[in-house]
Amino acid sequence: MPELPEVETVVRDLRPLLLNRIITSMKRSQKPLRQKWSKSWEKNILQKKVIEIQRRGKWILSKLDNQSVLVTHLGMTGQFTVVPSIHPKENHTHFIFLLDNQTELRYRDIRRFGSVTWSPSISVWENSLEEKLGPEPFGVDPEYWWKHIKHSKRNLKALLLDQSIVAGVGNIYADESCFRAQLDPRRLGTSLSKSEAERLRIAVEEVLTIAIESRGSTIRNYVGGSGLQGEFQEQLQVYGRAGQCCFVCESILHHVRLAGRTTTFCPVCQKRP
Ligand SMILES: [Zn+2]
Repeated sequence: MPELPEVETVVRDLRPLLLNRIITSMKRSQKPLRQKWSKSWEKNILQKKVIEIQRRGKWILSKLDNQSVLVTHLGMTGQFTVVPSIHPKENHTHFIFLLDNQTELRYRDIRRFGSVTWSPSISVWENSLEEKLGPEPFGVDPEYWWKHIKHSKRNLKALLLDQSIVAGVGNIYADESCFRAQLDPRRLGTSLSKSEAERLRIAVEEVLTIAIESRGSTIRNYVGGSGLQGEFQEQLQVYGRAGQCCFVCESILHHVRLAGRTTTFCPVCQKRP
């Protein structure tokens, strides 16, 4: 599933291709995505110019010159790319937005867990979310972070996956962050010292920054907004490596199920104090 670094890569790739382009028309498939598209939205999109493209958590927000916003979530297998109009349409393409320079913004999604919707403004959209979105994981206030960790009886994996604490961290980067911070993901928030919590906060930021520099991890169908794959999968320390040797200490990596997700860790590097 694309997480923050993959979504950020899509946004960075799309920005030069999409900025200042006018959406001239659109086509869509009749197959339902996770959220339903409303035909009444189309008048708010057509002939509008894209003035900004940004990421919030794992969401892609394409802001139009009427301040409204096209909201995209890649779900598990979503691909959001700009291609020349003559490019053959691939199977599982659900949305095509024609742009004013013979290119098209296309949304393709094999498993259809993603969505493309519209909202009158970014603030209206954010208020409408079922789950409140916490701050972006870069430059999180250490006191804010500590406040959410120190009283929590949930384990670190669950805390990292909670989008209301920080937005954008999923299974891959939660495991990688715990490894980088040398913390056992089964530990409860209440068991951490302030310096351990700080180590985790910094590890999340570092792991995500390095992953963005590598264009994210290509696992399953993820591609960036220009169709290029990511390379961070070559640098994964623990995610998907249960039963293999730790790159640091050569112990066999263990896996457990936490917060409903397979979680891989090194029993030596991430030993409890
Ligand atoms: Zn190790």
